[in-house]
Amino acid sequence: MSRRLESGSESGPKSTSQHSEPVGDYDLVVIGAGLAGLSLACWLLQLAEDGQATLPRVCFLEPRTSYSNDRTWCFWDLEPQPFRDLITHRWFRWQVSQGDQTACQSDRAAAYAMLPADVLYQYALARIDESPAFDLHLGVTVSGVEHIDDGALVSADQRRWQAKAVIDTRPPGKGQLASGVGFWQVFSGLEITCPKHGFDTSTATLMNFQPGYPHPCFLYLLPLDEDHFLVEWTAFQLEKESASDYRSDLDLWLQRQGLGYYEVTREESGSLPMLRMPAVQSFGRVIRAGVGAGWMRAATGYHFVSCQRGSAALARQILTAHASDDWRLQDPTVRAGWLDWMDSVFLRALKRHPEKAPQWFVGLFAATSAAQMSRFMNDQPRWRDALAVASALPPGPFVRAALPW
Ligand SMILES: Cc1cc2nc3c(=O)[nH]c(=O)nc-3n(C[C@H](O)[C@H](O)[C@H](O)COP(=O)(O)OP(=O)(O)OC[C@H]3O[C@@H](n4cnc5c(N)ncnc54)[C@H](O)[C@@H]3O)c2cc1C
Repeated sequence: MSRRLESGSESGPKSTSQHSEPVGDYDLVVIGAGLAGLSLACWLLQLAEDGQATLPRVCFLEPRTSYSNDRTWCFWDLEPQPFRDLITHRWFRWQVSQGDQTACQSDRAAAYAMLPADVLYQYALARIDESPAFDLHLGVTVSGVEHIDDGALVSADQRRWQAKAVIDTRPPGKGQLASGVGFWQVFSGLEITCPKHGFDTSTATLMNFQPGYPHPCFLYLLPLDEDHFLVEWTAFQLEKESASDYRSDLDLWLQRQGLGYYEVTREESGSLPMLRMPAVQSFGRVIRAGVGAGWMRAATGYHFVSCQRGSAALARQILTAHASDDWRLQDPTVRAGWLDWMDSVFLRALKRHPEKAPQWFVGLFAATSAAQMSRFMNDQPRWRDALAVASALPPGPFVRAALPW
Protein backbone atom coordinates (compact mmCIF):
# COMPACT_ATOMS: atom_id res chain seq x y z
CA MET A 1 0.00 0.00 0.00
CA SER A 2 1.35 3.44 -0.85
CA ARG A 3 1.84 5.52 2.27
CA ARG A 4 2.73 8.75 0.54
CA LEU A 5 -0.23 9.72 -1.56
CA GLU A 6 -0.14 12.69 -3.87
CA SER A 7 -3.00 15.16 -4.07
CA GLY A 8 -5.87 13.79 -6.10
CA SER A 9 -4.72 10.21 -5.88
CA GLU A 10 -7.60 9.07 -3.68
CA SER A 11 -9.87 6.52 -5.25
CA GLY A 12 -13.54 5.97 -4.39
CA PRO A 13 -16.84 7.55 -5.38
CA LYS A 14 -16.97 11.33 -5.68
CA SER A 15 -20.03 13.04 -4.27
CA THR A 16 -21.96 15.51 -6.36
CA SER A 17 -22.15 17.93 -3.43
CA GLN A 18 -19.46 20.54 -2.76
CA HIS A 19 -17.43 18.01 -0.77
CA SER A 20 -16.91 14.34 -1.42
CA GLU A 21 -17.74 11.77 1.22
CA PRO A 22 -15.13 11.70 3.99
CA VAL A 23 -12.19 9.52 3.02
CA GLY A 24 -10.26 7.01 5.02
CA ASP A 25 -10.92 5.28 8.24
CA TYR A 26 -8.57 7.19 10.51
CA ASP A 27 -8.33 7.57 14.25
CA LEU A 28 -6.31 10.76 13.90
CA VAL A 29 -5.65 13.39 11.27
CA VAL A 30 -2.49 15.47 11.66
CA ILE A 31 -2.61 18.75 9.73
CA GLY A 32 0.90 19.69 8.56
CA ALA A 33 3.98 17.47 8.30
CA GLY A 34 6.68 19.98 9.26
CA LEU A 35 8.70 19.71 12.45
CA ALA A 36 5.72 19.21 14.80
CA GLY A 37 3.83 16.77 12.55
CA LEU A 38 6.92 14.66 11.81
CA SER A 39 8.05 14.76 15.46
CA LEU A 40 4.64 13.50 16.52
CA ALA A 41 4.90 10.66 13.98
CA CYS A 42 8.31 9.61 15.28
CA TRP A 43 7.32 9.89 18.94
CA LEU A 44 4.20 7.76 18.29
CA LEU A 45 6.34 5.09 16.61
CA GLN A 46 8.98 5.14 19.32
CA LEU A 47 6.59 5.10 22.29
CA ALA A 48 4.43 2.39 20.70
CA GLU A 49 7.55 0.27 20.16
CA ASP A 50 8.82 0.88 23.70
CA GLY A 51 5.45 0.11 25.30
CA GLN A 52 4.39 -2.54 22.79
CA ALA A 53 1.24 -0.51 22.17
CA THR A 54 -0.92 -0.65 19.05
CA LEU A 55 -0.64 2.36 16.79
CA PRO A 56 -3.76 4.27 15.83
CA ARG A 57 -4.48 4.82 12.12
CA VAL A 58 -3.05 8.28 11.39
CA CYS A 59 -3.26 10.43 8.28
CA PHE A 60 -0.83 13.34 7.79
CA LEU A 61 -1.90 16.14 5.42
CA GLU A 62 0.80 18.42 4.01
CA PRO A 63 0.69 21.07 1.23
CA ARG A 64 4.30 20.54 0.06
CA THR A 65 4.84 18.07 -2.72
CA SER A 66 8.50 17.59 -1.86
CA TYR A 67 10.87 18.46 0.98
CA SER A 68 14.05 20.51 0.70
CA ASN A 69 16.91 21.28 3.08
CA ASP A 70 15.19 24.52 4.09
CA ARG A 71 16.54 24.97 7.64
CA THR A 72 18.85 23.71 10.35
CA TRP A 73 17.63 23.11 13.87
CA CYS A 74 19.98 24.02 16.69
CA PHE A 75 19.36 23.41 20.36
CA TRP A 76 21.17 22.20 23.47
CA ASP A 77 21.37 18.43 23.39
CA LEU A 78 20.35 17.65 26.97
CA GLU A 79 17.65 15.01 26.68
CA PRO A 80 16.72 11.99 24.55
CA GLN A 81 14.45 12.49 21.52
CA PRO A 82 13.86 10.39 18.39
CA PHE A 83 16.26 12.42 16.20
CA ARG A 84 19.24 12.45 18.58
CA ASP A 85 21.32 10.03 16.49
CA LEU A 86 20.88 12.33 13.47
CA ILE A 87 22.71 15.31 15.03
CA THR A 88 25.52 16.25 12.66
CA HIS A 89 27.46 18.79 14.75
CA ARG A 90 28.04 19.48 18.43
CA TRP A 91 29.86 22.42 20.02
CA PHE A 92 30.83 22.30 23.68
CA ARG A 93 31.77 26.01 23.67
CA TRP A 94 29.63 28.96 22.66
CA GLN A 95 30.01 32.70 22.91
CA VAL A 96 28.20 36.03 22.76
CA SER A 97 30.16 39.16 21.91
CA GLN A 98 30.02 42.86 21.20
CA GLY A 99 33.12 44.72 19.97
CA ASP A 100 36.03 43.55 22.12
CA GLN A 101 33.82 42.09 24.87
CA THR A 102 33.21 38.34 24.68
CA ALA A 103 31.38 36.05 27.09
CA CYS A 104 32.31 32.43 26.51
CA GLN A 105 30.75 29.36 28.10
CA SER A 106 31.79 25.72 27.86
CA ASP A 107 30.75 22.44 29.42
CA ARG A 108 31.57 18.88 28.25
CA ALA A 109 28.11 17.77 29.40
CA ALA A 110 26.13 20.37 27.44
CA ALA A 111 26.49 20.49 23.67
CA TYR A 112 24.98 23.05 21.35
CA ALA A 113 23.79 20.72 18.60
CA MET A 114 22.78 21.06 14.97
CA LEU A 115 20.39 18.92 12.99
CA PRO A 116 19.91 19.74 9.29
CA ALA A 117 16.30 19.62 8.11
CA ASP A 118 16.96 17.30 5.17
CA VAL A 119 18.36 14.65 7.51
CA LEU A 120 15.34 14.87 9.80
CA TYR A 121 12.82 14.97 6.93
CA GLN A 122 14.38 11.96 5.22
CA TYR A 123 14.41 9.91 8.41
CA ALA A 124 10.87 10.81 9.48
CA LEU A 125 9.39 10.30 6.00
CA ALA A 126 11.03 6.87 5.79
CA ARG A 127 9.60 5.95 9.22
CA ILE A 128 6.10 7.03 8.11
CA ASP A 129 6.53 5.14 4.86
CA GLU A 130 7.42 1.93 6.70
CA SER A 131 4.48 2.10 9.09
CA PRO A 132 1.30 0.35 7.88
CA ALA A 133 -0.73 2.51 10.32
CA PHE A 134 0.36 5.85 8.81
CA ASP A 135 -0.52 7.59 5.55
CA LEU A 136 1.07 10.83 4.36
CA HIS A 137 -0.83 12.84 1.76
CA LEU A 138 1.33 15.48 0.07
CA GLY A 139 -0.04 18.40 -1.94
CA VAL A 140 -3.02 18.86 0.41
CA THR A 141 -3.81 22.32 1.84
CA VAL A 142 -6.39 22.10 4.61
CA SER A 143 -9.04 24.82 4.51
CA GLY A 144 -11.24 23.96 7.48
CA VAL A 145 -11.85 21.78 10.50
CA GLU A 146 -15.39 21.01 11.67
CA HIS A 147 -16.36 19.45 14.97
CA ILE A 148 -18.77 16.57 14.86
CA ASP A 149 -20.21 14.49 17.70
CA ASP A 150 -17.64 11.73 17.71
CA GLY A 151 -14.68 13.50 16.16
CA ALA A 152 -13.83 16.08 13.52
CA LEU A 153 -14.01 16.61 9.78
CA VAL A 154 -11.04 18.12 7.98
CA SER A 155 -11.62 19.75 4.57
CA ALA A 156 -9.10 20.37 1.81
CA ASP A 157 -9.94 21.27 -1.76
CA GLN A 158 -12.95 19.12 -2.57
CA ARG A 159 -12.15 16.39 -0.08
CA ARG A 160 -12.82 15.66 3.57
CA TRP A 161 -11.20 13.41 6.13
CA GLN A 162 -13.06 12.17 9.19
CA ALA A 163 -11.22 11.16 12.35
CA LYS A 164 -11.78 10.70 16.07
CA ALA A 165 -9.32 13.55 16.76
CA VAL A 166 -7.22 16.12 14.91
CA ILE A 167 -3.81 17.61 15.69
CA ASP A 168 -3.45 20.93 13.88
CA THR A 169 0.17 22.07 13.35
CA ARG A 170 -0.56 24.88 10.90
CA PRO A 171 1.45 28.09 11.53
CA PRO A 172 -0.13 30.81 13.70
CA GLY A 173 -2.90 32.89 12.23
CA LYS A 174 -2.62 36.68 11.78
CA GLY A 175 -4.93 37.28 14.78
CA GLN A 176 -2.65 35.29 17.09
CA LEU A 177 0.41 37.28 16.01
CA ALA A 178 -1.17 40.74 16.09
CA SER A 179 -1.74 40.86 19.83
CA GLY A 180 1.69 39.73 21.05
CA VAL A 181 4.27 42.05 22.62
CA GLY A 182 7.73 41.46 21.27
CA PHE A 183 9.83 41.36 18.12
CA TRP A 184 10.25 39.57 14.85
CA GLN A 185 13.54 37.71 14.60
CA VAL A 186 14.40 38.16 10.94
CA PHE A 187 17.44 36.37 9.56
CA SER A 188 19.24 35.71 6.32
CA GLY A 189 21.81 32.92 6.33
CA LEU A 190 24.32 31.17 4.09
CA GLU A 191 26.19 27.92 4.30
CA ILE A 192 29.61 28.55 2.85
CA THR A 193 32.54 26.48 1.65
CA CYS A 194 35.70 28.44 2.28
CA PRO A 195 38.94 26.48 2.56
CA LYS A 196 40.77 27.37 5.78
CA HIS A 197 38.27 30.05 6.77
CA GLY A 198 40.06 30.60 10.07
CA PHE A 199 37.05 30.62 12.41
CA ASP A 200 37.56 28.62 15.59
CA THR A 201 35.78 25.33 14.82
CA SER A 202 35.36 24.46 18.49
CA THR A 203 33.17 27.49 19.25
CA ALA A 204 29.65 28.42 18.16
CA THR A 205 29.07 32.17 18.01
CA LEU A 206 25.47 32.66 19.08
CA MET A 207 25.47 36.45 18.88
CA ASN A 208 28.15 38.81 17.63
CA PHE A 209 26.42 42.19 17.91
CA GLN A 210 26.98 44.63 15.07
CA PRO A 211 27.19 48.34 15.90
CA GLY A 212 25.43 51.18 14.13
CA TYR A 213 21.90 49.80 13.72
CA PRO A 214 18.75 51.23 15.38
CA HIS A 215 17.55 47.71 16.28
CA PRO A 216 19.56 44.79 17.71
CA CYS A 217 21.55 43.12 14.90
CA PHE A 218 23.99 40.25 15.25
CA LEU A 219 25.94 37.59 13.40
CA TYR A 220 25.32 33.91 14.19
CA LEU A 221 28.25 31.79 13.08
CA LEU A 222 28.61 28.02 13.27
CA PRO A 223 31.94 26.65 11.97
CA LEU A 224 30.95 23.21 10.60
CA ASP A 225 34.55 22.12 9.90
CA GLU A 226 37.80 23.72 8.74
CA ASP A 227 36.33 24.46 5.31
CA HIS A 228 32.62 25.12 5.95
CA PHE A 229 30.55 27.41 8.09
CA LEU A 230 26.98 28.61 8.50
CA VAL A 231 26.57 32.34 9.01
CA GLU A 232 23.36 34.30 9.55
CA TRP A 233 22.64 38.00 9.83
CA THR A 234 19.85 38.40 12.39
CA ALA A 235 17.81 41.43 13.41
CA PHE A 236 15.15 41.90 16.09
CA GLN A 237 12.54 43.98 14.31
CA LEU A 238 9.27 45.50 15.47
CA GLU A 239 7.47 44.55 12.28
CA LYS A 240 7.67 41.41 10.19
CA GLU A 241 10.14 42.19 7.43
CA SER A 242 11.49 40.25 4.53
CA ALA A 243 14.68 38.39 5.38
CA SER A 244 16.04 39.22 1.92
CA ASP A 245 16.48 42.81 3.16
CA TYR A 246 19.40 41.52 5.26
CA ARG A 247 21.27 39.62 2.58
CA SER A 248 23.23 42.74 1.58
CA ASP A 249 24.30 43.31 5.23
CA LEU A 250 25.52 39.74 5.36
CA ASP A 251 27.39 40.04 2.05
CA LEU A 252 29.05 43.23 3.26
CA TRP A 253 30.15 41.55 6.49
CA LEU A 254 31.58 38.61 4.55
CA GLN A 255 33.51 40.99 2.29
CA ARG A 256 34.98 42.69 5.36
CA GLN A 257 36.31 39.36 6.67
CA GLY A 258 38.73 39.10 3.75
CA LEU A 259 37.99 35.41 3.26
CA GLY A 260 39.16 35.32 -0.33
CA TYR A 261 37.38 32.73 -2.46
CA TYR A 262 34.24 31.15 -1.05
CA GLU A 263 31.26 29.31 -2.44
CA VAL A 264 27.69 29.54 -1.15
CA THR A 265 26.29 26.02 -0.94
CA ARG A 266 22.92 26.67 0.71
CA GLU A 267 20.73 29.56 1.84
CA GLU A 268 18.21 29.75 4.64
CA SER A 269 16.13 32.58 5.97
CA GLY A 270 13.13 33.23 8.13
CA SER A 271 11.05 35.58 10.25
CA LEU A 272 10.25 34.07 13.63
CA PRO A 273 7.68 35.61 15.99
CA MET A 274 9.33 36.47 19.32
CA LEU A 275 5.93 37.04 20.83
CA ARG A 276 4.03 35.52 23.65
CA MET A 277 1.05 34.30 21.72
CA PRO A 278 -2.40 34.32 23.26
CA ALA A 279 -3.47 30.83 24.29
CA VAL A 280 -5.23 29.06 21.46
CA GLN A 281 -8.54 27.51 22.31
CA SER A 282 -8.17 23.80 21.81
CA PHE A 283 -11.14 21.50 22.04
CA GLY A 284 -10.92 17.91 23.24
CA ARG A 285 -10.98 16.51 19.74
CA VAL A 286 -8.95 19.21 17.96
CA ILE A 287 -5.62 20.21 19.48
CA ARG A 288 -3.11 22.78 18.20
CA ALA A 289 0.59 21.89 18.14
CA GLY A 290 3.88 23.52 17.06
CA VAL A 291 4.53 27.24 16.66
CA GLY A 292 0.79 27.84 16.15
CA ALA A 293 0.16 26.49 19.66
CA GLY A 294 2.69 28.92 21.18
CA TRP A 295 5.36 26.23 21.62
CA MET A 296 8.14 28.50 20.29
CA ARG A 297 10.01 30.29 23.09
CA ALA A 298 9.10 33.97 22.86
CA ALA A 299 12.40 35.39 24.11
CA THR A 300 14.64 33.27 21.88
CA GLY A 301 12.77 31.95 18.82
CA TYR A 302 13.94 28.42 19.74
CA HIS A 303 11.34 25.73 19.25
CA PHE A 304 12.99 22.37 18.57
CA VAL A 305 13.21 21.16 22.17
CA SER A 306 9.75 22.35 23.24
CA CYS A 307 8.41 20.73 20.07
CA GLN A 308 9.92 17.39 21.15
CA ARG A 309 8.46 17.79 24.63
CA GLY A 310 5.00 18.71 23.30
CA SER A 311 5.02 15.97 20.67
CA ALA A 312 6.05 13.35 23.23
CA ALA A 313 3.24 14.42 25.59
CA LEU A 314 0.70 14.37 22.77
CA ALA A 315 1.91 10.97 21.53
CA ARG A 316 1.44 9.51 25.05
CA GLN A 317 -2.12 10.86 25.19
CA ILE A 318 -2.88 9.53 21.72
CA LEU A 319 -1.70 6.00 22.55
CA THR A 320 -3.81 6.05 25.72
CA ALA A 321 -6.80 7.40 23.78
CA HIS A 322 -6.40 4.64 21.20
CA ALA A 323 -6.26 1.98 23.91
CA SER A 324 -9.32 3.32 25.76
CA ASP A 325 -11.19 4.75 22.76
CA ASP A 326 -11.66 7.99 24.69
CA TRP A 327 -10.31 10.64 22.33
CA ARG A 328 -10.68 13.73 24.52
CA LEU A 329 -7.17 15.19 24.35
CA GLN A 330 -5.61 18.07 26.25
CA ASP A 331 -3.10 20.76 25.32
CA PRO A 332 0.31 19.61 26.52
CA THR A 333 2.34 21.94 28.75
CA VAL A 334 5.69 22.52 27.05
CA ARG A 335 7.21 24.85 29.65
CA ALA A 336 6.40 26.41 33.01
CA GLY A 337 4.10 29.44 32.92
CA TRP A 338 6.54 31.51 34.99
CA LEU A 339 9.14 31.11 32.25
CA ASP A 340 6.71 32.60 29.74
CA TRP A 341 6.16 35.44 32.19
CA MET A 342 9.92 36.02 32.50
CA ASP A 343 10.13 36.12 28.69
CA SER A 344 7.34 38.73 28.50
CA VAL A 345 9.17 40.93 31.00
CA PHE A 346 12.45 40.50 29.11
CA LEU A 347 10.82 41.38 25.78
CA ARG A 348 9.07 44.41 27.26
CA ALA A 349 12.36 45.69 28.71
CA LEU A 350 14.18 45.03 25.43
CA LYS A 351 11.49 46.83 23.47
CA ARG A 352 11.94 49.91 25.65
CA HIS A 353 15.77 49.77 25.47
CA PRO A 354 16.78 48.03 22.21
CA GLU A 355 20.19 49.79 22.34
CA LYS A 356 21.00 47.85 25.54
CA ALA A 357 20.64 44.40 23.90
CA PRO A 358 24.40 43.79 23.33
CA GLN A 359 25.31 44.82 26.88
CA TRP A 360 22.49 42.74 28.44
CA PHE A 361 23.20 39.58 26.44
CA VAL A 362 26.98 39.69 26.94
CA GLY A 363 26.44 40.39 30.66
CA LEU A 364 23.97 37.50 30.92
CA PHE A 365 26.34 34.95 29.37
CA ALA A 366 29.26 36.30 31.41
CA ALA A 367 27.43 35.99 34.74
CA THR A 368 25.93 32.51 34.29
CA SER A 369 27.43 29.07 33.75
CA ALA A 370 27.13 26.95 30.59
CA ALA A 371 25.00 24.41 32.47
CA GLN A 372 22.65 27.15 33.71
CA MET A 373 22.26 28.84 30.34
CA SER A 374 21.79 25.59 28.41
CA ARG A 375 18.99 24.53 30.77
CA PHE A 376 17.46 28.02 30.70
CA MET A 377 17.59 28.25 26.89
CA ASN A 378 16.13 24.72 26.59
CA ASP A 379 13.09 25.69 28.74
CA GLN A 380 14.22 23.50 31.63
CA PRO A 381 15.73 25.87 34.18
CA ARG A 382 15.97 25.02 37.82
CA TRP A 383 14.95 27.80 40.20
CA ARG A 384 18.61 28.63 40.78
CA ASP A 385 19.22 28.97 37.02
CA ALA A 386 16.32 31.38 36.70
CA LEU A 387 17.59 33.35 39.70
CA ALA A 388 21.09 33.49 38.16
CA VAL A 389 19.58 34.81 34.92
CA ALA A 390 17.40 37.37 36.70
CA SER A 391 20.28 38.64 38.83
CA ALA A 392 22.57 38.95 35.78
CA LEU A 393 20.27 41.61 34.32
CA PRO A 394 20.10 45.23 35.55
CA PRO A 395 17.20 45.49 38.03
CA GLY A 396 15.84 48.95 37.10
CA PRO A 397 14.57 48.32 33.55
CA PHE A 398 13.38 44.81 34.39
CA VAL A 399 11.47 45.76 37.52
CA ARG A 400 9.80 48.58 35.56
CA ALA A 401 8.99 46.13 32.73
CA ALA A 402 7.45 43.72 35.25
CA LEU A 403 5.00 46.36 36.46
CA PRO A 404 1.60 46.14 34.81
CA TRP A 405 1.56 49.80 33.67
C1 LIG B 1 15.13 28.87 8.55
C2 LIG B 1 14.67 28.52 9.96
C3 LIG B 1 15.61 28.09 10.89
C4 LIG B 1 15.19 27.75 12.17
N1 LIG B 1 16.13 27.34 13.07
C5 LIG B 1 15.74 26.95 14.30
C6 LIG B 1 16.70 26.48 15.24
O1 LIG B 1 17.90 26.47 14.96
N2 LIG B 1 16.28 26.05 16.46
C7 LIG B 1 14.96 26.06 16.80
O2 LIG B 1 14.62 25.63 17.92
N3 LIG B 1 14.03 26.56 15.95
C8 LIG B 1 14.39 27.00 14.72
N4 LIG B 1 13.45 27.48 13.85
C9 LIG B 1 12.08 27.67 14.34
C10 LIG B 1 11.18 26.42 14.33
O3 LIG B 1 11.81 25.35 14.99
C11 LIG B 1 10.82 25.98 12.94
O4 LIG B 1 10.16 27.01 12.28
C12 LIG B 1 9.94 24.72 12.93
O5 LIG B 1 9.96 24.20 11.65
C13 LIG B 1 8.51 25.01 13.33
O6 LIG B 1 7.82 23.80 13.46
P1 LIG B 1 6.26 23.68 13.16
O7 LIG B 1 5.93 22.26 12.97
O8 LIG B 1 5.48 24.47 14.16
O9 LIG B 1 6.11 24.47 11.79
P2 LIG B 1 6.59 23.93 10.35
O10 LIG B 1 7.82 23.12 10.46
O11 LIG B 1 6.59 25.13 9.48
O12 LIG B 1 5.39 22.98 9.98
C14 LIG B 1 4.07 23.43 9.75
C15 LIG B 1 3.56 22.62 8.58
O13 LIG B 1 2.20 22.97 8.33
C16 LIG B 1 2.04 22.96 6.93
N5 LIG B 1 0.86 23.74 6.57
C17 LIG B 1 0.77 25.09 6.46
N6 LIG B 1 -0.49 25.42 6.07
C18 LIG B 1 -1.18 24.26 5.96
C19 LIG B 1 -2.51 23.94 5.58
N7 LIG B 1 -3.41 24.89 5.27
N8 LIG B 1 -2.88 22.63 5.53
C20 LIG B 1 -2.01 21.65 5.87
N9 LIG B 1 -0.74 21.90 6.25
C21 LIG B 1 -0.34 23.20 6.30
C22 LIG B 1 3.34 23.53 6.39
O14 LIG B 1 3.55 23.20 5.02
C23 LIG B 1 4.36 22.90 7.31
O15 LIG B 1 4.88 21.70 6.81
C24 LIG B 1 13.82 27.84 12.55
C25 LIG B 1 12.90 28.29 11.60
C26 LIG B 1 13.32 28.62 10.33
C27 LIG B 1 12.29 29.12 9.34
